[in-house]
Amino acid sequence: SKEQLLTNTEGLTSELSDLDKKHLIHPVAVPKHHASKGPKIIFSKGDGINVKDLNEHTYIDGVSMLWNVNVGHGKKELADVAHHQMSKMAYSSTFYGYGNEPAIRLAEKISRLTPGDLNTVFFTSGGSESNDTAFKLSRFYWQLKGFKDKRKIISLRRGYHGVTVSAQRATGIDAFRNFSGSTDPDIVNAKAHLTECELGDKTHPEYSGCIRSVIEELGADKIAAVIVEPIQGAGGVHVPPEGYLKAVRALCDEFNILLIADEVICGFGRTGEMFGVSHWDITPDLMSIAKGITSGYAQLGGVVMNDRVADTIKEYNDILPHGFTYSGHPTACAVGLKNIEIVEREGLVKNAYKMGKELEKGFTYLEEKHEFFTNPRTVGLLAGFDLMKDPVVNIPFDSSVQAAVSVVEECYQRGLLIRCFDFEPGMNIVAVAPPLIIQKQEIETIISILDEAMTAFSQKVKW
Ligand code: PMP
Repeated sequence: SKEQLLTNTEGLTSELSDLDKKHLIHPVAVPKHHASKGPKIIFSKGDGINVKDLNEHTYIDGVSMLWNVNVGHGKKELADVAHHQMSKMAYSSTFYGYGNEPAIRLAEKISRLTPGDLNTVFFTSGGSESNDTAFKLSRFYWQLKGFKDKRKIISLRRGYHGVTVSAQRATGIDAFRNFSGSTDPDIVNAKAHLTECELGDKTHPEYSGCIRSVIEELGADKIAAVIVEPIQGAGGVHVPPEGYLKAVRALCDEFNILLIADEVICGFGRTGEMFGVSHWDITPDLMSIAKGITSGYAQLGGVVMNDRVADTIKEYNDILPHGFTYSGHPTACAVGLKNIEIVEREGLVKNAYKMGKELEKGFTYLEEKHEFFTNPRTVGLLAGFDLMKDPVVNIPFDSSVQAAVSVVEECYQRGLLIRCFDFEPGMNIVAVAPPLIIQKQEIETIISILDEAMTAFSQKVKW
């Protein structure tokens, strides 16, 4: 009976919860809280934009888990292709010059999708590994060119590039950047985030924190590369001002520095273009990819290099001492190929653009209705907004109000999973980034849940 079933699943939930508390440390969770409360949700199934827990409780996945489940949950085709490849040959190495068909075909496919002459791929298992690889290959490129001192990497405040040590130090979010006291003297985090001053305006108040001023201070002969996300994701969904990325590209050219675009979130359609850089018509020298390449159905990442970098490396006549056991993993690459096929066949890049417009309309409605809802931004299905006590005169909520956390919690109570960012004083940012398969009616549901959640929040909060 249904009752019996519920008792069983409740029993299972409680058993798993106890085991989790005992045996797991969760990333980006509060260990002490977790050790007493256990997992917030134990997922069991996914279908389209929806996910379920063990007790058949349904949630809308409003941020595609970690902005990566782009084709949505439960795509059987991806399970089938993994099954097929695993049955034939689940894994083979790409070390020592060994090859496999999925990795070769996926590299060729990526070279056709990426802009300009980004034609050569080095595979990894995820975003952090991709960025560390991009840093190493940038330095190696300059060494091969005879510039041994060009080692430093410049990143931006509020950039998120991952958690391996170099990627961690490139990340411009203090808690992540400083965790466990890791250091890497060759990574320099510029103090400014995406601001107009990169255009060279020395009168701008934040000029001293800008990429140009950092280059001038360190000396271009010490700098290997600049890394930027086309749109900052985990730093709070910041869209660069018009002309910004072009100016950064020009700056890199002027000072002979490589430009790395971290497309880990933006890549493969999230923003309504296949890659984020296409919105601003620039081509980086190296591009880090992960997440959307497989929509999370397998662990895969990579660095795509332009011909200038790749041709130089291809001249190197000794062993390249870099690579991961899972570089070019055949099953992950087969899943990646099928995932891209789905993205193209279902027109998901275009759908991300169209549904982004629907989300934008919804945000306009919310902005008119809730006076504390402000600064909405949507680029395809990468979207966010701020909550402020008084946006007109720029007064943030007191941190004790926990505005963004509360709105996210109200959404959770109503079956919508979204994310918030409040790592700087006064920051209350909420991100929305559903799977790219989402339809108009589902966007409307998300907006109406946000609407109810903000009404509930405003009734509870003491102004
Ligand atoms: N770069 C960006 C832009 C990211 O958003 C992330 C992950 N959120 C990473 C890198 C790190 O990727 P991973 O967690 O796969 O190592």
